[in-house]
Amino acid sequence: MGVVSKGAKCNVDACENDGARSLNTGKVENAGLKVNSKGKKTILCKDHYKEWKKESKDDRDLERARFSKF
Ligand SMILES: [Zn+2]
Repeated sequence: MGVVSKGAKCNVDACENDGARSLNTGKVENAGLKVNSKGKKTILCKDHYKEWKKESKDDRDLERARFSKF
C-alpha cells in the first residue's frame, strides 16, 4: 500500500476522482467495491479509500480479537 503518484485516477467503476491510495485489487474486491483495474494493484480516491476502510473494518476487528487471545 502506498501513496499514488500524481495524475493517476481512481480505479472504481464510474469514478473519475484522482487516486489517493494504491491497494491490492483482491482486498478491494473483497470489500465489495467494483473496480476496473486489470493489475494486482487498484488505485482508490480518498472517498473510496474511506469506504474501503469502513467495509474492511469487520475483518480487522476479527483479526485483532483473535490476536488478543494469545
Ligand atoms: Zn473513487
